[in-house]
Amino acid sequence: MSESSIVDKKIKIQGHGIKITPELKTQIASEGYYPIALTWLTDDITGPFSFTGYGDESPFELRRVEDRYAVFENGEYFTDATFYKKPDFFNRLHTAKGLDNPQDTIFIDEGMSGVITPCGTAKDTHESDLFKITQGKFPYVTVACYNGLVIWPAWGCLYTKAKNQCKFCCIPGDYDEHKLLHTDSDYWENLGATFAAAVKEIGPEISQVSLTVDSGTLPGRDKGAHVYVKVLDTIKQRLGYLPNLLYRRAVIEPPLDFEWLQRLADAGFTDIQMDVDVYDEVERRRVMPNAKGHRPIADYIKAFRKAKEIFPGEVATQLVAGIQDDENLLKGVEHFASEGIPTLLTPFLPFGHGRRWRDTGEVEVPSAQRMKTVYQRAAAILTKYNVPPPQFRGGVSSLAETMGRRLKRVKALTNPRDFDREPISVAA
Ligand code: SF4
Repeated sequence: MSESSIVDKKIKIQGHGIKITPELKTQIASEGYYPIALTWLTDDITGPFSFTGYGDESPFELRRVEDRYAVFENGEYFTDATFYKKPDFFNRLHTAKGLDNPQDTIFIDEGMSGVITPCGTAKDTHESDLFKITQGKFPYVTVACYNGLVIWPAWGCLYTKAKNQCKFCCIPGDYDEHKLLHTDSDYWENLGATFAAAVKEIGPEISQVSLTVDSGTLPGRDKGAHVYVKVLDTIKQRLGYLPNLLYRRAVIEPPLDFEWLQRLADAGFTDIQMDVDVYDEVERRRVMPNAKGHRPIADYIKAFRKAKEIFPGEVATQLVAGIQDDENLLKGVEHFASEGIPTLLTPFLPFGHGRRWRDTGEVEVPSAQRMKTVYQRAAAILTKYNVPPPQFRGGVSSLAETMGRRLKRVKALTNPRDFDREPISVAA
């Protein structure tokens, strides 16, 4: 498959998600898969992509083909698919107080799993640099967190509680659903035990796994940073050490007091991602009618500069395409690139609150052509400033990685059915 064809496919599918019937989902689960994120079967294409929650009206549909799975677009074969193996540590569910349904304590990173984002084409400076893989000739990188573990100590957000949430917000839950797990002492006990179980189950390959801690914005000047610190402290206390991972990343709104950035780093976070999401100040207030939307870009720049002094890994941000003027978005990419900050460029996904927003007709998923144009222009900007693409190393794969160097899913996350299988596409 040519690179451009892969890009087209990825871009189309990442904005639509995939329709999947409850029956099929049950079957997938019964086969030992984790029916959330899926990947192209031929590991030489790209990483997994997410389909939960936003695929109901998608032209893409998952079907079973003999003993495998494939994605069809409007009834036509589109690509092969498979899923993560459901690891045993997922059985350690947690039931938040006030909720009936138990949920995973640690998740596989599906949020970032299918994202394509631009990367520059400048020369690399490090042996491990992605430019080595792309060989400076391809303006995209797929952020594929094959081995990404995610901890959400709170599903809710201060702004959803106040009913002034960001219009594009993907968080399906709501602050009032009592999903503030961090207020529950049982949660911490279970988190430590689950992480210890994960380390044991994954074994030596744990060093090929990343950890992301993410939550909605929490009350307080620290924007919830103390909870993030507690996550790593809990792991440390339980294991007696902090395991050596690909990275430990905090995704957080910049704390108002920058001392919290230092505390996050001291706790063991190596990377930090502070998502601007919308660049233009007027558009920010329209799309994010809350304190975040009123936070000036200058505040983010100060936080980026401070974070770059502190964190040993990456300081990155995100902008969402389709919910703001493309020219404004690209101004943002350039502004951040001039500070040495890579921008993860994601399309608007009609999921959670975003789905409701789309239903008003005010916003639509950006087309593949629009995304390609934005990606290409953003890649040129990153090249101009010699800024590398985001290095979410939970299995980052390049669309030009045909060249073969990529992280494989660790065994604990791969169903034995998928070892050495021929893809359906060979027969298609
Ligand atoms: S996008 Fe983030 S900050 Fe905005 S409402 Fe959702 S969780 Fe809160």
